Amino acid sequence: MKEISCKLLVIGAGPGGYVCAIRAGQLGVDTVIVEAGRPGGTCLNVGCIPSKALIHAAEEFEKVAHMAGGKSPLGISVGAPTLDLTKAVAWKDSIVSRLNSGVAGLLKKAKVKTVHGWATFRDGKTVEVETETGTQVIRAEAVVIATGSAPVELPFLPFGGPVISSTEALALSEVPKRLAVVGGGYIGLELGIAFAKMGAEVTVVEALPRVLAQYDAELTRPVVKRLAELGIEVMLGAKAKGLSTKGDALLVETADGKNSKLAADKILVTVGRKPVTEGWGLEQIDLDMVGKFIRIDDQCRSSMRGIFAIGDVTGEPMLAHRAMAQGEMVAEVVAGQKRSWDKRAIPAVCFTDPELLTAGLSPEEAKALGGEIKIGLFPFAANGRAMTKLGEDGFVRVVARADNHLVLGIQAVGQGVSELSTAFGLALEMGARLEDIAGTIHAHPTQGEGFQEAALKALGHALHI
Ligand code: FAD
Repeated sequence: MKEISCKLLVIGAGPGGYVCAIRAGQLGVDTVIVEAGRPGGTCLNVGCIPSKALIHAAEEFEKVAHMAGGKSPLGISVGAPTLDLTKAVAWKDSIVSRLNSGVAGLLKKAKVKTVHGWATFRDGKTVEVETETGTQVIRAEAVVIATGSAPVELPFLPFGGPVISSTEALALSEVPKRLAVVGGGYIGLELGIAFAKMGAEVTVVEALPRVLAQYDAELTRPVVKRLAELGIEVMLGAKAKGLSTKGDALLVETADGKNSKLAADKILVTVGRKPVTEGWGLEQIDLDMVGKFIRIDDQCRSSMRGIFAIGDVTGEPMLAHRAMAQGEMVAEVVAGQKRSWDKRAIPAVCFTDPELLTAGLSPEEAKALGGEIKIGLFPFAANGRAMTKLGEDGFVRVVARADNHLVLGIQAVGQGVSELSTAFGLALEMGARLEDIAGTIHAHPTQGEGFQEAALKALGHALHI
């Protein structure tokens, strides 16, 4: 049995873990990272990056198909396109591979030692890793748990055969003719829309009365409209119950309590993700939990001295950039620096069509604080750049305190609004007032002008509506 010691041991090389290890290495902290799979974790291998690659392929295909149908107002017409999904998946895989190598290279450059295998706690300072060449024991002064999350499986619809999770959906070799999506959250809709654009007949089964239920109805309206345009059927208040005996249909209890059969070639279950808290010896170290997640303080310290936890294993929002921000901060804390981070400024993007972007508080959350608020909304229908991109559906909305105009939250829905996330995050991080946004000169013609106009609207003097 081989033994090594280090100052910092990171378990899991997802965006939380690898960023933590790189930053610690940069700061001269003797760091080891353990990863059972490929560098980059869920996000890089079976999450953010591969899903955005397939979404892009689907968008390109749909654009050309639209032109081929003679419907393009731009005067472009082309022949009917075909899609080779195997080729698109291979292209997606090549991007993932390049980024895998990139992460491995960055870890090496930061002088981080990588151990491949599954890590299990022996006690709070010692971890055993089952590697290809035997058991490796690692002793560390500080340990960061960054074990991430996995898809939730429904007991009556176990993964296998036609029932797939997002991981398998990203590796299909053919577009399913009929795709049932169980769960109308962001992952289900991002993938459902992509497959509909690639030609699948898609039905979304959602138990709640609305899809994307974490967002307000005003914000999701353009997405709901687009689902209908794409021919995606949405069954609301409907519960998936199981697979038909032949395995060719999803059994559904509809909102009126009736049982129905939804014929499907693939059933994509996207009902959430659960933290990975089993199989690595949580019971050996007995950490405090909040529900299924590891309890952490503002510096990501767990209830046990010297053990930190970051990323999806610590709760919502389960987002890669949150995990990265936590990882960077923990590395600096371990290196002896004073650090904290501001959760309020985490933007969240839903890469549906159109895209949704939120940062900070929604109007309802802001109202719940008790004070008066101001809301400014600017529609993309009045934005020149949006018009030139055929992206008039959507808006930017700014929520601020009425007394001092401090911006509390910003939301947008529209084509390509994900790129506004930097501006939204920066405004919240810097404690911007409405006047700061209104007074910032925005380049013309850009969709970002909608942000400035929404702030002006909240101040009562929008210029273009
Ligand atoms: P993970 O990325 O889950 O990484 C954890 C790593 O730890 C894994 O590689 C695992 O193999 C390893 N591990 C676990 N236990 C052990 C052990 N005992 N020993 C060794 N290794 C271990 N987020 C966004 O911000 N934007 C998006 O657009 C986005 N899109 C997504 C799309 C999909 C389809 C999915 C599924 C997720 C998406 N997410 C997105 C969420 C994002 O992927 C996660 O929030 C992020 O990956 C969490 O990072 P993490 O470091 O906490 O854990």
